[in-house]
Amino acid sequence: MAIANNRLTTEQYQQNFSDIHPPFVNKSAALVEANRCLFCYDAPCTKSCPTGINVPKFIKQITTDNIKGSAHTIFISNIFGGGCSRVCPVEKLCEGSCVYNLLEEEPIAIAKLQRYATDKAIEDKWKLFDRKPSNGKKVAVIGAGPAGLSCAHVLSREGTEVTVFEKESKGGGLMTYGIAAYKVTPQFCEEEVEYITSLGGIEIKYGQELGKNISLMDLQRDFDAVYLGIGVGVARQLDIPGEDLEGVVDAIRFIYDIRTKGYPAVTVGDKVAVIGMGMTAIDAATQAKRLGAKEVTLVYRRTEAEKPCTNVELDIAKLDGCEVIWLAAPKEVKGENGKVTQLVCSRMQLGELDTNGRRSPVNTGETFTLEVDMVIKAAGQVAFETLVSGELLQNNKGKILIDTNGATNIKGVYAGGDAVNGGKEVVDAVQAGKDGAKAILSYLENR
Ligand SMILES: Cc1cc2nc3c(=O)[nH]c(=O)nc-3n(C[C@H](O)[C@H](O)[C@H](O)COP(=O)(O)OP(=O)(O)OC[C@H]3O[C@@H](n4cnc5c(N)ncnc54)[C@H](O)[C@@H]3O)c2cc1C
Ligand code: SF4
Repeated sequence: MAIANNRLTTEQYQQNFSDIHPPFVNKSAALVEANRCLFCYDAPCTKSCPTGINVPKFIKQITTDNIKGSAHTIFISNIFGGGCSRVCPVEKLCEGSCVYNLLEEEPIAIAKLQRYATDKAIEDKWKLFDRKPSNGKKVAVIGAGPAGLSCAHVLSREGTEVTVFEKESKGGGLMTYGIAAYKVTPQFCEEEVEYITSLGGIEIKYGQELGKNISLMDLQRDFDAVYLGIGVGVARQLDIPGEDLEGVVDAIRFIYDIRTKGYPAVTVGDKVAVIGMGMTAIDAATQAKRLGAKEVTLVYRRTEAEKPCTNVELDIAKLDGCEVIWLAAPKEVKGENGKVTQLVCSRMQLGELDTNGRRSPVNTGETFTLEVDMVIKAAGQVAFETLVSGELLQNNKGKILIDTNGATNIKGVYAGGDAVNGGKEVVDAVQAGKDGAKAILSYLENR
């Protein structure tokens, strides 16, 4: 069947892409929840947050209606605290380690409380930070994603002038161009970037691409240090026959189009197969369904026990009506007249433990065929290999290599976030940006 376009009404699109985790209905609801917190002495929720937000403190501040103080407590550790309250997989982080789980009771709704405080700060444009007097230093940050902007915010607070070079026309990185709109709206992403840069001392130059309009050499000449927060690139190739057929698309490109062109403009099939089981695969599958696809099937080569997405993410996909086939790997895409019509899959079984302690999938030799008119590839991403190797940065399979201080092999050039870890979560990128800023400040001081 041909790939169809624009099949829902405006109201249906709005409903399908509306906020999946709505905020508290009112202040009383937030206060009731905040007052459930036991304000644990060595709070496991804080320990499990990669940015180390002092959770009991910000919740306590909510109970005393000190919302400014609460927002400050969150932002001092994580300037993307608003975005993270929407997109963090809290079930495996703060909420997953809340002591209430041990009592077999609902954990504290930490993300919702975090959103309560940070939304007020962003809406009312509270100025919660001052910049120190100028230290006379200039730093270039490449990429206005969570890593880059978190780094820029810390540097600017310390009196450094920061110029951010961003190839797209908006900031926020994958928050703006990747993560599903029902988790974080494009409008919120813009407001968050505006709020972060309202500190001053951070100029974002849009439409500026390292490796195209600018080179590392230019930046090294014009700035005292450089931070690379360029993320990872396109989806990994499947390396199977038929991958070039019309209707086989990259998940990142598919989601990027939804975020930039608007829902009705994006083409989606009737019968869609999504390869992979990470957050990108889930976001692609759920959004294909919410765009009006009749059948969406996630195909994953291992079992549910090894899936990279969380249970909550998988539940969202299942509730949206997506099917899952475990222990299956794509073998061939077949088509007619240049368009995809079938996906042939190999049945897998689990074999030996690999170096990561997971059992490797082994081909059983059996195959089965799915009738599809669209295949979305979401089996991992590859880094901006050409850019990285072109500038002689040391890299490992496209991931930029850094030392324990966050420094690359090129003097004064630092890196962090997805570009270094190969693709984790927003909260990890924010912490990487903070670490990078600290390392740059120490480098500038000791130079
Ligand atoms: C589909 C999808 C869903 C996800 N869902 C979640 C989720 O629900 N929760 C969660 O926590 N995480 C999620 N993630 C992961 C999260 O988005 C990333 O871990 C995070 O955004 C990484 O931040 P970063 O700053 O390192 O990179 P990015 O967010 O990728 O930002 C990099 C920035 O650098 C810019 N850039 C790249 N190259 C250049 C260049 N040469 N010159 C100039 N600018 C450049 C890019 O345009 C971009 O703005 C998801 C990712 C994807 C792809
Ligand atoms: S673990 Fe739960 S109860 Fe304890 S401080 Fe954290 S949120 Fe509050």
